[in-house]
Formats: sequence, structure tokens, C-alpha cells
Amino acid sequence: MRRKLVAGNWKMHGRQAANAALVSAITSRASEYSGIDLWIAPPSVYLAQVAGLLADSELRLCAQNVAREDDGACTGEVSAGMLADMAVHAAIVGHSERRSRYGDTDAVVAEKFVKAQAAGVIPVFCVGETLAEREAGKTESVVLAQLAAVVDAHGVAALEKAVLAYEPVWAIGTGRTASPEQAQQVHAVLRSAVAQQDAALASGLRILYGGSVKAANAAALFAMPDIDGALVGGASLDAEEFVAIARAARATL
Ligand code: PEP
Repeated sequence: MRRKLVAGNWKMHGRQAANAALVSAITSRASEYSGIDLWIAPPSVYLAQVAGLLADSELRLCAQNVAREDDGACTGEVSAGMLADMAVHAAIVGHSERRSRYGDTDAVVAEKFVKAQAAGVIPVFCVGETLAEREAGKTESVVLAQLAAVVDAHGVAALEKAVLAYEPVWAIGTGRTASPEQAQQVHAVLRSAVAQQDAALASGLRILYGGSVKAANAAALFAMPDIDGALVGGASLDAEEFVAIARAARATL
């Protein structure tokens, strides 16, 4: 049985006062989402602050990115060892915004994935197709190639302590979400690709959907058999919405 997970990606949003108010509004309603995992990914500069805010809660801290290098002369980067040192539980790798704007190729994503994992930080590994790729009928081949970049480099066992996230690029921040059936179809393709190499691992692998998830569409997405939760961007900045999404995940238990 895969435990449901809802992870909030704040992207480049936040200020100390707003972060404190948002976290407090979420943690004060913990009884509404008991039994599921809830993770929060603030900008790296606020990880320490949010770690403090989450100290007495069940929520876990997640980073939005991680360096592909170990500690050293990498100005502006944050290593996996540093994340682990700050009690960061997980790190997003391969987010489409990083792939399209910051040069995170499949090879870079695979390096970041393994650095995070080696430091004991769970990679939240994002894959997803652009609208042009979907319209060209390439969705499956694109997400399978992105998945293969990690599996071929590090072996399928690397997915054991990882979370996969299917995030169609055309649905991120657009208000246009994949239908539950569209998302389920891709999740099933991903799970069966993993199952071809390790069936037990595939059946325990959590695959999140991401792309304009909100309270209004979460329940229908979570009703799908291969959707194990959500990676939530915009709606994670609104405590009401985020807790409602978490409640929808809990309602499936
Ligand atoms: C994301 O950034 O991972 C995301 C899914 O964003 P949004 O929910 O805003 O589409």
C-alpha cells in the first residue's frame, strides 16, 4: 500500500512573515490530513526558517533543487550534503522550469538525483512532456526517456528511495490540468516501465501528479489507481487550498 503524499513547491515565493503565517495555517490543521505525508519545498534561503517552523510537526522539508557537485567551488549552489545537514528530507530534481530555463538536461538531472540520494535526501524526480510533444503523440516516449536517464545511469534500484512526479509541462502554472484519465495513463506507463525491471519496486513506487492541482480537481485525480498524491505549485501558497488538497488525499484512505 503506497502512502499518499502531497508536496507543496513554493517556487520563488515567500518572505519570512508570510512563510510563518502560511506554515502555521497549515500545521494548525494537522488533524485534517493525518495518515498522509505532507512536504513543503520553500526557496533554499528559507529552508532553515521553515525547518524551525516545522520542528514540532509531522510535515517534512523539501528543497526545490540540489547541486550536481559535492561541496566546493560552485558559487551559488547548495550541495546535497548541506541539505542533509539542515535536516532536509527530500529535493525536487528535474522540474520542468529547471530543465527549460536553467540547463538541467537529463544527464544533469541524473547527477542531481544520485547526489541527493547519496546524502540521504529523497529525490522527487519530475518528468513530463511539453504541449508540442503531446500533440505530436510523443508523451510516452518523452517521459520514458527522462525516466531512463536516471535508471540507465544508476540502475532501477535507485528508484527505491525516490518519488517520481509526472508533471506535464503544459499543465504547470497554466490552470490547465491533465484529466484524471490522461494523468492515469501516463502514470501507468511509468509504473509498468519500472515493473519490467523490478515489479516489487514498481508497486511500492509513489508517483505524484503535478500540474495545476487544486482543491477542485484533486479528488478526481487521487481516485486514479496509479496517482499517489500531488506535487502542488501555485495552490500550495494558499493554506486553505493546500489543506483541502491534503484532505482529498486523506479521503482516499
Ligand atoms: C509545479 O511547479 O510543480 C506545479 C505543479 O505548479 P502548479 O501547481 O502551479 O501548476
